[in-house]
Amino acid sequence: MGSASSSGYVPKVIIYLQKDSVPHKVMFSRHCRPSDIKELLCTTVGLSRNSLIMLMDQNNAIISIDPTMPTNAPSSPYRVVPLSGRQLTEEDDLLQNVLGQVADQFSRIFKVNDLKTEIACRLAALEKRVELEGLKMVEIEKCKNDLKTLKDELSLGNRSSISCKHAIMEEPIKLTVQRDVPKYPKYTLSQETIEALKKPTFDVWHWEYNEMLSCLEYMYHDLGLVHEFNMNPIILKRWLLSIQENYRNNPFHNFRHCFCVTQMMYGMIHLCNLQEKLSLTDLVILMTGAICHDLDHPGYNNAYQVNARTELAVRYNDISPLENHHCAVAFQILSQPECNIFANVDPEIFKRIRQGIITLILATDMARHGEILDTFKPKVATFDFLNEEHIISLKMLLIKCCDISNEVRPTEVADPWVDCLLEEYFTQSDREKSEGLPVAPFMDRDKVTKPTAQIGFIKFVLIPTFETLMKLFPQIEEAMVQPLRDSRDRYEELKQIDDAMNELRKKTENIPLGWKKK
Ligand code: 5GP
Ligand code: MN
Repeated sequence: MGSASSSGYVPKVIIYLQKDSVPHKVMFSRHCRPSDIKELLCTTVGLSRNSLIMLMDQNNAIISIDPTMPTNAPSSPYRVVPLSGRQLTEEDDLLQNVLGQVADQFSRIFKVNDLKTEIACRLAALEKRVELEGLKMVEIEKCKNDLKTLKDELSLGNRSSISCKHAIMEEPIKLTVQRDVPKYPKYTLSQETIEALKKPTFDVWHWEYNEMLSCLEYMYHDLGLVHEFNMNPIILKRWLLSIQENYRNNPFHNFRHCFCVTQMMYGMIHLCNLQEKLSLTDLVILMTGAICHDLDHPGYNNAYQVNARTELAVRYNDISPLENHHCAVAFQILSQPECNIFANVDPEIFKRIRQGIITLILATDMARHGEILDTFKPKVATFDFLNEEHIISLKMLLIKCCDISNEVRPTEVADPWVDCLLEEYFTQSDREKSEGLPVAPFMDRDKVTKPTAQIGFIKFVLIPTFETLMKLFPQIEEAMVQPLRDSRDRYEELKQIDDAMNELRKKTENIPLGWKKK
């Protein structure tokens, strides 16, 4: 608790607690969450960290437990009053969690003491009821809803002062995690899943969000990143939750796409033995770059941003507006102490990690595809894993491959992604038509079919890109390049069928009506 963030100064709060008739000094960061402070207070006075407590001053007034609480002097220490000697049950935990989140939100939005007192009173009253009556689940749900309504009402009126606005939809970036770790159930991955996770054949449609989060968490542990960068495991979970919450529910650019790209990266690391060839700093850059690479994607591409002159295009001067935004959101999330997985990393190493992630996310702009491939190609023949420039170029190619790798997967996994992509494309092109903006033919519902969308992309983008990488790692031919060739052949057959059907339709249209009736 209270560890300095990598950005430097963290304001501290000092309060005094009475313990064994002696004032005890307690210090925490202004950025701490109320639940963390509550735990600190409990452990300071020798209670279990899950105990239900109230904080009271010398006049028996309740002090709200949050980072903006009033400080006191050693001569007037606060008292921690246990409301119960028992451990928290799951229901209490849920209630605490909800209340903690509400208090978090409130303390961010308002610095007004009235509100803090109100929250503290509600908190104390609810905690008391949990203690005395044993609140039932329905009642907890009701309290949760009441508090949520109150929170929504309050935050609506104050939104502009705390949140960034999106370029297109009026939806704030969720910098405060909406749900917290205790509500994110622990999934134990079976040995079968663990093995499957390393392969491009992994069925990415089979998993719910929480399961995908557990898989991502597992990958960070398995690659030794948690150990190497001294990551707090709870912060890792919270960071992943925040990442998931900051992907929108677009048809294509959503959290499952983020998961696919990251899982393919994890697969590449294993298939190409990158753990032996690259440093752990490079691996954390690759994995984190993949997880963050499409954060807060609005579902409309760069061309739309520029042509519609959106806020993002204006902010980034038409230069990769989306990728710049994904990257900025990634570091906004990391700048929250409760989500900073790099809090314990030496500032010089963090600088390298940050630069590496920025380079990789910006490399995912397909407008730079030719440039990035052309930079890599001349290096392959004499590739040197000790040459920094070579490594940067390789990492850029790797994230690009993973980003566009759906067609590497088995047909039944890859196929639905094309529908998702076309749905997003068509939403954009319909909007462009209605707004009188230019429409790219590959996005136009009147010009594109699944086979036509895929044949060109596989032949002219995917196969040449993966074949370039194959020169350095021949083992990807069987696992990745061959499935691409098979998919190309399958789509070519489907196109032939489509063409034949169209031909037949045209012919039957020309047949005189009398013939058709027969
Ligand atoms: P992303 O936007 O995901 O960062 O960059 C990848 C881009 O490549 C996508 O927006 C999309 O335009 C294109 N792309 C990725 N996978 C496919 C695919 O399977 N088919 C087609 N036609 N385009 C793809
Ligand atoms: Mn992507």
